[in-house]
Parts: sequence; structure tokens; C-alpha cells
Amino acid sequence: MAYMAMARKWRPMSFSDLVGQDHIAQTFRHAIEGNRLHHAFLFTGTRGVGKTTSARIVARTLNCTGGSTLEPCGKCPSCLDIGTGNPMDVIEIDAASNTGVDDMRTLLEQTRYTPMIGKYKVFVIDEVHMLSKHAFNALLKTLEEPPSHVIFIFATTEANKVPPTILSRVQRFDFKRISNRQIAERLQYICTQESIQADSEGLAIIADKADGSMRDALTYFDQVYAFSGAELSNQAVRQVLGIPPESIFFDMVQAIFSHDQKGCFDIIDQACGLGIELSILLDGMAKFLRNLLYSRVSGLSANALEVTESHFKQLQGLAPDASNGDILRLGKILAETHFQLKTASNPRLLVETSFARMAWLDRVADLKKILQGFDGPGTAETVKKKILRSPAPVSDPPPPPVPTPATILPTLAPLPVAPSPAPTEEFSISFGDEPAPAGPQVSKFELVNQWKTVQKDFCQMEPLAGAYLDGTVLQRGEYNISPFAVKIIFRADNAFNFNQFTKSEFYKATLTDYLETILQTKVLVHIEPLAPSAVDATASPSPLVPRQSAPHASTWERDKSREPILQFLSETFEVTWLDSKSVRRIQRPSQNDQPVDE
Ligand SMILES: [Zn+2]
Repeated sequence: MAYMAMARKWRPMSFSDLVGQDHIAQTFRHAIEGNRLHHAFLFTGTRGVGKTTSARIVARTLNCTGGSTLEPCGKCPSCLDIGTGNPMDVIEIDAASNTGVDDMRTLLEQTRYTPMIGKYKVFVIDEVHMLSKHAFNALLKTLEEPPSHVIFIFATTEANKVPPTILSRVQRFDFKRISNRQIAERLQYICTQESIQADSEGLAIIADKADGSMRDALTYFDQVYAFSGAELSNQAVRQVLGIPPESIFFDMVQAIFSHDQKGCFDIIDQACGLGIELSILLDGMAKFLRNLLYSRVSGLSANALEVTESHFKQLQGLAPDASNGDILRLGKILAETHFQLKTASNPRLLVETSFARMAWLDRVADLKKILQGFDGPGTAETVKKKILRSPAPVSDPPPPPVPTPATILPTLAPLPVAPSPAPTEEFSISFGDEPAPAGPQVSKFELVNQWKTVQKDFCQMEPLAGAYLDGTVLQRGEYNISPFAVKIIFRADNAFNFNQFTKSEFYKATLTDYLETILQTKVLVHIEPLAPSAVDATASPSPLVPRQSAPHASTWERDKSREPILQFLSETFEVTWLDSKSVRRIQRPSQNDQPVDE
């Protein structure tokens, strides 16, 4: 006897066999029992969840003349006829290959004839959304007034593509995705019936790989069965389906959180050696991280994650030092890598660099802790010393081609501290998971110190507004508050610039846009003048901020800092200073804003 695939052999024959779609079985039972059967149905849901199978069950149940109302007997003429695979009273067409109006007319022609054996003639149209507009119109007429012996069942994966005129004339059933547990249970049932020895982990892997589709699960099951025979182990399942062993992910997470980049490369090499596809490796890693994260959330059990109890315990004990934020960050990189994989010219290199980048990441978390030190009194200097003392953060392996770690405070002169022989602290700023912004490389941590450079760059774009900002200083906001607050303080003796800059909302908006572009974050700009008495005391609000102008600046320098137009001219036209004379501006309420001699 020819071998019959499991998917065919174990196709459900009645509603009680149907896995995971109890709500549909129940509705049909009630409709049949109460004799309130609609004449047209739409079955919608993802592939492999039992839509066409259900359509056949409906046909079988309605036409069976033996047995009970709800369980087809399998022996009566109708059941036997449907069992032949080419039944007379069930007409199935695939709309994907019969899209035209002529195909539809041929089909509808048959609705005129009464059923040969059973009570109903059942028309099953698979992938109904593929029908042409004219075909739908032809169908519509019959759908409005169908003969009493006709039942239509439409199956589709894309109900949104079915015209509303059709949708309003059918009873719709949404098929659920079948859970991994339900699939595994069905597979276990089949194993028992077929005398196959299978371990539950192996079946769980098949169920997971099937991703909600019973048909896929049975196809995979067949594949493994053909390979391993009646002894179906989880190793065989992994080998046949190319699923990485869980130990790979445990090792990978450990390598990542102990910054072991070589370890990461070795694990990727090992996976490739086992014939595991890179996309499956990334997928598996993403699922593993998701489970790792969920295992830490209280209230979730091994059952909820659909993993074994021992696996769950192992997850809970893994990487105790890693925060949930760290795990989420890894997930983000994985998702990016998965996306880039489709177009990568060298997929393995891409995956290797991504994992190396993850192994690199923890230092970002360390730095955040350090930066909190900036808020504490007296700690800023210590932190600055540490950063300046620390050489390049690279240890053994070469850095991966990811955004280069920016050095902090590049313009500050090294402080007179004794250089430590071997750096014990490893500090660097690597905003590895952010794409490098266009424009100058400035982070929000550096902004206060880099303000002068930023302002000059802004000047290139918006000369006048940029020039008005000359001589201003910054007070930084909290780094972890969004939007990032940037407070720009105008010197008290620079009221003119302040007035000019604040006169137009446009300047502030342009500056905000500019800062958002270079910092790659949402920015809120505050503009403030300083009270005259406060100038000297607070001209440098942070110990890291150099004073913006020396007290004994030349007249020209002073005037330049006061008058943006002079600054602008000197920078644009290479003006040479010969002489300048200070004048006092008289602030009048009127528009007459003329300078007068002192
Ligand atoms: Zn029957």
C-alpha cells in the first residue's frame, strides 16, 4: 500500500477531531442542531489552521445519513463518497487558479442541480480573495438568492481583500492560530496511534517551528519520521529541521555578557558547522532572549513559555548581572540584523559583527552608571580624571566595524594627574545601538563642552541666529529625561543678542531642529538671560565649562562678542581690525533703535 502522508492520514474528519478551533465547532453544532444554518460562510485565518479541513467537515456533517447529527459515520454513501477524494456533492475550486468570470459561471451552473447523494451541495472556494471583480459580481447574484440545497464556504487568508458586498452576505468565522501546546498534544496523540516513540521536547520543537500551523507541523513530523523511524528523539528533530541546540544560546548569552567576542565567533562557527542557517540562528536567539526576559517576570511559568521546567530554571539562573534593559537592547540589535540579513552581501560577517557588537554593549550600561556620578557633588572631577586617564578601551580582539567609540571631552586638556600604569577601568562611549548621526559627532553628554563648536557649525547653516548665540553658555538637562532639555544662557551684558534671538520663534525652532539632528534625540530649548549681578558668579555653571570670554579681552574681541554682525563680518570676510569705538545702546520703547555716542 502506498505511503500516505501524516497530514492526509490524520486530517480531522469531524468537529471533535479539529484542533484549536472549538469556537467554530461549537457554532456549527448549535446551528445544525437548531436548524438555523446559514447558506454562505467565510473561513478566514492564517495558513494551515484548518480552514479547508473545516469546510470538508461541514460538508461531511451536513450530508451524513448515518450516525448522529454531529459525528459523520464514515460508512454511509455520502461519507464514502466524500472519502473518495472526488465527491459528487462537494465541489472544491481554488480561486487562485480559477480567477475569471467564466470559471465562476461554470461553477454556478452546477448550483442548479440537486445533490446526488446527500441533502446539500457544498461549494468550497479556496483563496476566494483571488477572484476577479467580475467573478465576484457573478457570484453575488447567486449568493443573494441561493437554491435551498446549496451551501457556499469561502476560505481565505486575506479577508480584507474580499469585497464588502460579499462579506455582508456571509457568516464569518475567524480561525485562531493553533497554540504550540495544542499542536504538540495532537502530535503526541498521533504518535500513540502510530506506535512511535517520541520525546516531548522533540514534539515541542516541531510545534514551535510550525508556528501555529497544524499542516506544517504534520509535514515536519513526516520529515523527521522518515529520517529517524519509530524512535523520534529531539536530537533527530533538531538535526532534520536545522534547529540549533538550546546550549548554543545559553553559551552565546554567557559569552555576550562576559564580553567574550572570540567566544561569540566560535559559537557562530559551531552553528554553521551544524548546518544551521543564520536566519534560524538569529530567530532562535530572539526567542531565547524573549524567554530569558519572561523568565524574570514574576507570575510567568514554564508552562506559559511552553518550555520544560528544567529549561525554565536554567533560564532564571542565566546572566544574573544583566539587566532587563540589556536584554532588550540585544533584542533590538538582533531585529536590525535580521532585517539587514536579506540584503547583506556577506551574511556571516554581518551576523558575526552583530554578536561582537552585543558583546561590546555592556560597557554602555557601565558608562550610564558612571554618568550618574556627574550629578553627585564633587564626583565630576573624579569621573573626568578616570576618562582622561583611560586609554583606548579595546582589550584583546580588534573592534568590530560598528560606530567607532567616540572619545569623551576631546578638547579638554589632560589634567595633571599621575598616569596609572595599567588601566583597571574600561571606559568608552559607544552608543553602539544608535546609528551615527549626520553632522558633527556630538553626544548629549558632550554638548556642554562642545557648545562653542556646535554653535559655530550652526552658524554655517543659519549665520545670523548662530551669531546671536555667540558668548552664550549651556546648562545641561538630565540625560535620561526626554525631551533632553538644553538651557542656553545669554550673558547679562548681551541683552541685544538675547532680544534679537528671542524676537523670532524661527531661530529657536531652527536651533531645536539642528540640535535634534546632531544629538539624534528630542530636544527642548530654553533661552534665558542672566541677571547682571549673577554674571560673574555663574558665567561657568558647570566646573567643566570654560569661561566664554576672558576678563581682559581686547576691545575688538569684546565688541565682537557683543555684536553678532561684527562676528559675522570678521568670519565671513576676513576683516582686519584697525580701531573700534564702543557705543552705548539706548533701549527705547519705540522702534527707534539707533546707537548714540556716549
Ligand atoms: Zn455518514
